[in-house]
Amino acid sequence: MPLWFARGLRRGVVTTRYPARPDDSAAFLPAPPAFRSRRLTRDIVDRMVAVCPGPALSRRDDMLLFDVGACTACGRCAEAAPDAVAPSGEFELAATSRSVLVKEIPIRGGER
Ligand code: SF4
Repeated sequence: MPLWFARGLRRGVVTTRYPARPDDSAAFLPAPPAFRSRRLTRDIVDRMVAVCPGPALSRRDDMLLFDVGACTACGRCAEAAPDAVAPSGEFELAATSRSVLVKEIPIRGGER
């Protein structure tokens, strides 16, 4: 029996202290990706756009457009380009405006 369950029964508290305190389990949650601008090339971005199952990724010229609100944190883009993508570790993505969830990431791979 998990320790937290026994503690909850004993104290009558069945929830964690989140959001007042970060929850340890957050480290194990899938998180949207973070992109390394200097590792991105047009080819890499096009490959990530092709594997993304939804509308979260697109490319406009030398810009990667990332709609965090449409990302399911599936990890397919990271599998397609592991050198250019890492988990952000950020899953608290509430926003008051939809537009702030759309990120423009410059494609700088190959720049010196
Ligand atoms: S994690 Fe999945 S849904 Fe999110 S941008 Fe990458 S491929 Fe698209």
